Amino acid sequence: MTSSLRLGRLAGVEIGLHWSWALIFALIVWSLADGVFPETNPGLADGTYLAMAVVAVLLFFGSLLLHELGHATRALREGMEIEGITLWIFGGIARFRGLFPSAGAEFRIAIAGPIVSLVIGACALAGALVLPLPSAVDGVVFWLGYINLAVLVFNLMPALPLDGGRVLRSALWARKRDFLAATRAAAAIGQGFGQMLIALGVLSVLLGGAIGGLWLVFIGWFVLAAAQAERAGAETHEALSGVRVEDVMVARPLTVDPGVRLEEFMDRYFFQHRHVAYPVLHDDRPVGLVSFRSVLAVPRDSWSERRVGDVMSPLERLPTFAPETPLESAVERLSQSDANRGLVLDDGRLAGLLSITDAARVIEARRVASLPESGEPASSGGERGRTAGYLAPASVDRGGGS
Ligand SMILES: [Zn+2]
Repeated sequence: MTSSLRLGRLAGVEIGLHWSWALIFALIVWSLADGVFPETNPGLADGTYLAMAVVAVLLFFGSLLLHELGHATRALREGMEIEGITLWIFGGIARFRGLFPSAGAEFRIAIAGPIVSLVIGACALAGALVLPLPSAVDGVVFWLGYINLAVLVFNLMPALPLDGGRVLRSALWARKRDFLAATRAAAAIGQGFGQMLIALGVLSVLLGGAIGGLWLVFIGWFVLAAAQAERAGAETHEALSGVRVEDVMVARPLTVDPGVRLEEFMDRYFFQHRHVAYPVLHDDRPVGLVSFRSVLAVPRDSWSERRVGDVMSPLERLPTFAPETPLESAVERLSQSDANRGLVLDDGRLAGLLSITDAARVIEARRVASLPESGEPASSGGERGRTAGYLAPASVDRGGGS
């Protein structure tokens, strides 16, 4: 998920705002000003309700940010890299790079967000109940307390990718010492939970509650998809563990000299061997990679003049790997770069060629082989890097407060 709007950096973490927040902002403001506040704090002017609603949504937005920052700061302390935090239609997502270092670390990172929501929710509710606040302020503070506790309860469902699902996974992981089995169990609950939300949403739409029902369908669909992605990510990780670049690379690939004319390259290399890319070697040293696509991008009538060295991707712009690099980190780097392939260098000399499609084939084969008997076939190959997402739901529940 890309954030459309960068809000800046906080505690070293980049904060972004997804465009969908404009929609949720409007929906919650409307729902609060038109439904919730007139019910919980009757007798105020329409303008007051609108102002209350805007302030309440901004504070809610701040609470979600603090919830995600709770995860993020804990993750930083556990030594994880953070790509950033994005607030979007269902709340917030903290995006981490790589896997959790241990079950204990995952537990502490997972629980940090709900603790923030609990503190904000409890303080706000207590403040609204104990302090002699003016009616308008009281309404906002009470709703803020209520919504933070609702976020807390939803997030503690033991269903991946929710925080409770991560807590469950970390517990299973610690007990069975099997990350994949723990992920499959927590993701199965996540998928079931997502399907249940979708079913409830459809039922609700049929019974006339269109907005609330669609909302449930959206959240359910998101939970379902994210749970499947969590499982696929863990299966990919399992399939790649112990595999090194040299196990998958094309060793001693056919190479070409930078001085070869494009005409000759097509005739003598591409049409004869049909590989899509060739490492370029000058005096036995790798200097780049040429693909037949980059040759096709050159007008045909200049093929007799231009040379491989003119159209190749130079070495500096290519991903390069050592033969003993774990395949998992190589795949992550390949998927982050524009190039689909990189050179494997051993002490500066060419050892092989690694393409993301070769890696994907190995991943798929090993993943299918690792599926349990009852397991359904993997849904897709080539998952993106494992991004551990944390989400907190935003809610336009009108039943708040009474
Ligand atoms: Zn969370």
